[in-house]
Amino acid sequence: MIRITDIVDKVVEYNPDSDLDIIDRAYIYSARVHDGQVRLSGEPYLSHPLEVADILADMRMDTESIAAALLHDVIEDTPATKEDIQEMFGSGVALIVSGVTKLSGIRFPTKIAHQAESLRKMILAMADDIRVVLIKLADRLHNMRTLKYHKSAQKQAAIAQETLDIYAPIAARLGIFWIKYELEDMAFYYTQTDEYERIDALVNKAKEEKEIYIKTVNERLHYKMEEMELKCDIKGRYKQNYSIYQKMLSQDLEFEQVYDLIAFRLILDSVPQCYAAMGGIHSMWKPIYYKIKDYIGNPKPNMYQSIHTTVVGPKGERVEIQIRTNEMDMIAESGIAAHWSYKEGTNIDENTGELFAWIRNLVENQENYKDPDEFLENVRIDLYPDEIYVFTPFGDIKTLPKDATPVDFAYSIHTEVGGECTGAKVNGKLVPLAHKLRTGDTIEILTTKGHHPSTDWLNFVKSVKAKTKIRSWINARERERSYSLGKEMIEKQFRKKNQNFNALVKSGEIDKVAEGFGFKKIDDLIAHVGFGKLTPLQILNRALPDIDKQDTGDESILKRIIRRRKKKTSTGVIVKGLDDILVKFSKCCNPLPGDPITGYITQGQGVTIHRKNCINIMKMSNERTIEAEWSNEFTESYPASIKIRTTDRFGLLADIASVISKYKSNILNARTETSEEGIGLFYFTIMVESSDQLRRIMSDIRKVKKVSDVKRIVRTE
Ligand code: MN
Repeated sequence: MIRITDIVDKVVEYNPDSDLDIIDRAYIYSARVHDGQVRLSGEPYLSHPLEVADILADMRMDTESIAAALLHDVIEDTPATKEDIQEMFGSGVALIVSGVTKLSGIRFPTKIAHQAESLRKMILAMADDIRVVLIKLADRLHNMRTLKYHKSAQKQAAIAQETLDIYAPIAARLGIFWIKYELEDMAFYYTQTDEYERIDALVNKAKEEKEIYIKTVNERLHYKMEEMELKCDIKGRYKQNYSIYQKMLSQDLEFEQVYDLIAFRLILDSVPQCYAAMGGIHSMWKPIYYKIKDYIGNPKPNMYQSIHTTVVGPKGERVEIQIRTNEMDMIAESGIAAHWSYKEGTNIDENTGELFAWIRNLVENQENYKDPDEFLENVRIDLYPDEIYVFTPFGDIKTLPKDATPVDFAYSIHTEVGGECTGAKVNGKLVPLAHKLRTGDTIEILTTKGHHPSTDWLNFVKSVKAKTKIRSWINARERERSYSLGKEMIEKQFRKKNQNFNALVKSGEIDKVAEGFGFKKIDDLIAHVGFGKLTPLQILNRALPDIDKQDTGDESILKRIIRRRKKKTSTGVIVKGLDDILVKFSKCCNPLPGDPITGYITQGQGVTIHRKNCINIMKMSNERTIEAEWSNEFTESYPASIKIRTTDRFGLLADIASVISKYKSNILNARTETSEEGIGLFYFTIMVESSDQLRRIMSDIRKVKKVSDVKRIVRTE
């Protein structure tokens, strides 16, 4: 059990001139009135106010707050009254303690009404003195930490749910993120134990697997910062289980797809150093441009400041990095409490005032809500700024994510209504399907029988249900198409060899083939051919391995055709796990042997090879990318495009062309441009065998007189 002297020591450390007498007196009084009471844990009751006071000392609160924390349960649970407290400890402490006290005397018709009224009281008191809510949060934190001593699982779940609904969002609104995360994680455990444990096990496994990787990232960050002479602290922090779970739910992801499981945090001394550090990191690892968020330049409404960037790290894995100053780090963790420590007393500085505005708004409006339910609803709207509340024509309320559209609304009613949705009226007016709904809207959905979801909808729907249902419809349709296409391709291939595929299916021969490729059903095997993941020839060779030997008559011609086809399709690329697959090269980045590459499975067209750092492949879905590498025996030529800047355009074309032909490389295409300043630009597409050869050609072109720059370019068509 924590001792009062530990708390006093902490207070003296951050506030040496404080009036410790009030803390001593509060402790003695609290010990006396709580004497004989026991917590469910079996500990003396006094342990609870001590722990709460300790949490406040960690938040560097003033002595009045610490005293109030020690006394926070005396009005509720002992014979002491507000007047007693006022007399002994002054009106400041008395106001806080009575603000923290739950309503008991009055009876309420329902539990909800009671809860709503208690909350209303707390919020009113909070508007007078924010310290009320800080004590309330610390109180809840300690109660959650000791929730395991509750006997009833039902009671545990109810308290945990209330924590998720009310206290964690309040902590978030006040910017006290360490409390928010701790509350959420504990509440997650008690409300959904199975899910919590599943995710916890996955996180622990990932921690083990990623240990070396994390060490590498850490070391390289350290090295880079040292090289740039930037003094900084680097921390690697794992996402909380509940945050991971929320992300999986809201973006419909599998655990493996949550790439920002760990975020690295760099803490520096000044703002310019933060930007310098970002530049250093971006020069080492390529940033994903749409993931750069500058909350230093544009702070969040709760005053959070930090730079967030996601880069492609050492192993091609995405790494999230947060960069901030010491002060920003303190505010990010403690939020309003950082502005409310002992120094400020009860004065609200301008920033804190802004942060405080939502509470004041709520209080000013509360008179309009006579009904506690209505008030609670209003608080909910305020605590969950990411949700909207809309109505069906019958007045039923639906909760949707912010910026949700009529399509989200339609799916929230029924999957069928979603799929057949062709129009919508919002408050009686026709709107486009991508229209953004607002709290209070009444929505009527227009449907057409036999209408189907559209892929475009995925660009604007916000709810998980709509996304999942639309995707599963598209997948089912794709599968259907892939199946019929695959069937046609296989039948054709078998007919060429005078074989009947369907007869082999009936005889059970194909079952073995499907099994051999790892499919449970023949339909899956066929669909994979249509999808481009397997070729009909692979199926044929597996089903009838000796087919070429048995062949008569036109055997030699067929063989030659196959051989020629094979030669033609031999691209010098090995796609992992697939030995006979149609491979094409992407036009967007023109990969060359030697470039790191990756494959993308296209529908019905085999695999397209991209350079690993191609921006298009980074944007595409991970499920369809497949590992690929160059085989060692590439003798083929591949197109590559280069751009040459010159200071003078006359007579150069011949010189450049002769360099290219020295390497026996063919020119596919050449184009010239002259800029207004008289700078000549040459664009060549040439055939090369590898990125090495291209580099050699480029370096020789650079040696040509009047050539100022040669670059490999990515075609932008
Ligand atoms: Mn308490």
